[in-house]
Amino acid sequence: MNYLSTRNSTSAIHFSKTILEGLAPEGGLFVPEAFPQFKWDEFDRCSNLAEFATLLLTPWLQGDSLLAELREICQGAFNFPIVLKKLDEGASILELFHGPTAAFKDVGAKFLAECFSRIQNLNPKTILVATSGDTGGAVASAFWNKPNFKVVILFPKDKISFRQQKQLTTWGGNIQALEVRGSFDDCQRIVKEAFMAEKQSNSKRTLLSANSINLGRLLPQTIYYANAALEYFRKNEREPGFIIPTGNLGNAVAALWTKKMGFPIREVVLATNSNISILEYFKTGKWKAFPTVETLANAMDVGNPSNMERLIHLYPSVSALKQEVKVVSVNDFQISKTIQESNKVWNQIFCPHTATAVYARETLGGKDWIIVATAHPAKFDSMIEPLVGQSIPVPEGLAQLLRRPSQVEQIKPTLTELAFRVPL
Ligand SMILES: *Cc1c(COP(=O)(O)O)cnc(C)c1O
Repeated sequence: MNYLSTRNSTSAIHFSKTILEGLAPEGGLFVPEAFPQFKWDEFDRCSNLAEFATLLLTPWLQGDSLLAELREICQGAFNFPIVLKKLDEGASILELFHGPTAAFKDVGAKFLAECFSRIQNLNPKTILVATSGDTGGAVASAFWNKPNFKVVILFPKDKISFRQQKQLTTWGGNIQALEVRGSFDDCQRIVKEAFMAEKQSNSKRTLLSANSINLGRLLPQTIYYANAALEYFRKNEREPGFIIPTGNLGNAVAALWTKKMGFPIREVVLATNSNISILEYFKTGKWKAFPTVETLANAMDVGNPSNMERLIHLYPSVSALKQEVKVVSVNDFQISKTIQESNKVWNQIFCPHTATAVYARETLGGKDWIIVATAHPAKFDSMIEPLVGQSIPVPEGLAQLLRRPSQVEQIKPTLTELAFRVPL
């Protein structure tokens, strides 16, 4: 399989090279030259998600040196449960938060770590990651104690939940957490500057990125959509629509790629918070980034979603896009209200991100919906517990981290401050 850039369709490369590069040369994003197609009954013989993933991803790694190890990669990445549960007559919930850091980011981060650590002849690498909340913890957990890799996490001071912060700062060993006196955008800018500085110097490359534009994070996310869609279709003989809490658009693009591979997906709904750049694009047909707005669903606080370029590449016209994709924007008041109501109606506590999707389904009506639950509510206890008036049981992995001491250094939002602490 060859991968092309969204901006230039002449430079074709294989999977391993795309994950090492992250971005395509002209600043575009990697997309496949074609979407593999499957016969659904091929998947009948898969007895677990790792086998399902191996079968589905085989054509995506065709011709690549990692293909020979795909089975082991998938076994390492898909080793925790992903659960599809009925909520009511119209909707089911796809729980993606049973991994080590209790958010769906674990799937992509684990798969990427399994891939990186199997690439031959790689010099020692530093993975530099800016996080708005959940990515940093998932990447830290996935790379912790992996020989040859060091992880440096930049996160914005006072912008993430206490428990998210614990998931960034309690690892020690090869994981270094830096608290930046600035915003998430500052963190992202410093990371970009570090990569540019490395490119301009003539030194050997040591930096790797693990952000959501990396194919190594995006591709494995197609697995749970394909598996859930088939499971739903077999049981109900109707195609489900997925409602996806959306920020950088990585998870939603994975769902749309799954649809392009021919799996039974009726439509995709993007549930966003008060960051309205995607909503405005649907309204006006013109792409424009907006400044980031802080909301209760902090992992979706993105004003300039980095996977937008892949969405536009997939649907070059807005009218084509609107036939298969809808967007619903949900404000903080609606998020809080949904968390309260869901607890009353279904006796279920949702995280603020998942609550945007639950709200969206209420406004859409209809049936055969699969609501994607992206994080465990216990990560956001200080926000949710006062709303529902009860405490949320903490999953064991998170509880273990909470007992460990934090190690963190504060820096000013400049590249110099980063370079001073991390040999770049
Ligand atoms: C990252 C994240 C999202 C947004 O996912 P994208 O792929 O960036 O659109 C939603 N919910 C949670 C809990 C997240 O961590």
